[in-house]
Amino acid sequence: MAKSNYLSSLTDEKLADLRQRLLARQNQRCFICEDEIDLQLHSDSLDIDHIDPLAADGLDAENNFALTHSKCNRSKGASNLEVAQRMSKFERLQNEARNNGRRGANLGDVLTTYGGSTEELRLRQESNLVKFTLSAVGDDTVRVAPTCADRLSGMSSFFAELPIEYLHHDDKINPRTIGSNLRGLIEEFQKGRPQLHVALAWWAPEPEGDSAGRVRVFDGQHKAAAQILLGTRSLPVRVFLSPDSDVLRQANTNAGSKLKQVAFDTAVMHHLGSSLYADRVAQFKEMRHLNDDDFSFSETELVGFFSGEKREMLRYIVDAQKDAIMRHENNRLTEFVEWAGKGASLPLSYSAIDKTFFREFLFRKALATDLDDGLETGENPRQLERDQLVRLMTMYAEAVFVDKWDPDTGGRRLENRVQKGEAIAHAHLRAWRLSREEVLANVLSQGVRVVLEHYYALRRQSVRRDRLLHTRAPDELWDAVGSFLANLVALPCWVDSQLSGTVFGSKQNLDFWERVFDTGKAPNGVQVLAQKIDVIEMTNPPDTILT
Ligand SMILES: [Zn+2]
Repeated sequence: MAKSNYLSSLTDEKLADLRQRLLARQNQRCFICEDEIDLQLHSDSLDIDHIDPLAADGLDAENNFALTHSKCNRSKGASNLEVAQRMSKFERLQNEARNNGRRGANLGDVLTTYGGSTEELRLRQESNLVKFTLSAVGDDTVRVAPTCADRLSGMSSFFAELPIEYLHHDDKINPRTIGSNLRGLIEEFQKGRPQLHVALAWWAPEPEGDSAGRVRVFDGQHKAAAQILLGTRSLPVRVFLSPDSDVLRQANTNAGSKLKQVAFDTAVMHHLGSSLYADRVAQFKEMRHLNDDDFSFSETELVGFFSGEKREMLRYIVDAQKDAIMRHENNRLTEFVEWAGKGASLPLSYSAIDKTFFREFLFRKALATDLDDGLETGENPRQLERDQLVRLMTMYAEAVFVDKWDPDTGGRRLENRVQKGEAIAHAHLRAWRLSREEVLANVLSQGVRVVLEHYYALRRQSVRRDRLLHTRAPDELWDAVGSFLANLVALPCWVDSQLSGTVFGSKQNLDFWERVFDTGKAPNGVQVLAQKIDVIEMTNPPDTILT
């Protein structure tokens, strides 16, 4: 906190009085986290700070002071106290959502916390306009808004400012959660900067048929959430009228993927793909008059059926599989994956998973067998692929990360720190190096894949290279994979600080590590391993190998 001449001029007694007055004004609660403050119990851990910072021309006077826990005040960073308070409120929603097994909070959580999302909007459409009232919030005035027709899409929409009671979050079109950029937006709005783009929503009468329906916001949730957290009770929106929501979803997906208008993170893209997949499957069944529990058709048939969007359809199928694997309750690797892009406290990114485990072992084409083929006997190829990838990822997590990776040490500039002589726990350093995308990719392609193929070849069992996990691997094969990983983890290079500058300090390409695995030596001449990796030898349990 900035130095306050006013505060430093106060005697201890006057300061104690000030604390009491502030606390009374704040209903005995911390200004930031809104939890209780007890002047006696917390006496050593309280701050008085300026609500509007002095640096932003805030006054050094009592009405600009607030009392906080010191810890809360320290965690606010450079933010204004009001921003810190709103962020603290949002973080609570975020934690609640995560405790409920979700990836994070979205606009829906913010809306319901502030009393929104309670009403349906009753609308009447006339030739070029819509009429509606906001009776539910006590305003019976009949409002009239012109509709605009979109020449090419044929969609019609209107603009209106709507109270949050009438706004609902559409998590089907927009499955994203609110990310860390919320703070920046709260700061902007708190400083009085305007919203530059209106939120997008759609409205359709509910199926029961009368003229009322929800206004579902599918774009602009960060801007909306930031303003609602700052106390805004109504927001400008563009509302599409009874659109084909599938077309909207498609437009929104494309905007985030091939058109790159919105920075969708990859994991969300995959989830979106899977909900589109579920919709296509439902559509297909309806056209074929199939029962709900009838899955006697193949991926190939689906792709053929939606022939106008073959490539998308294929992507939905693969994305659904990725999504199921990443959300699988037994998948322990996901604890070590940063979901939204880059972070420093977790070793893996979602995109690294995509480029390693999925690239190596996920079948990317359509299967000609029925979706329910082999389900009863546990031989369904997609299910085997899913379960065995989860098993492999979990084995890797347990060999490398669980109880070894230390999030407090993290990965930021780790090799630099090693080079400067900082002592890093070996288990942590090893986990970091074995999480490098180029290393992991080679562990899978030069190691695990070889173990699997070798096993089947020895037994003259024909298994397709691109569908290795569509066959159930017996326990002895999993044991071999486990031994390989245990021996791999025990190699000295993962904890050798001498290799930090020459090998691990910068990102290497795939070939670099392929050469290391093949020869023991890096292309730059550095001896990384004592000898080449002998994968088959390494499938023996570690304590049986004589070195
Ligand atoms: Zn607090």
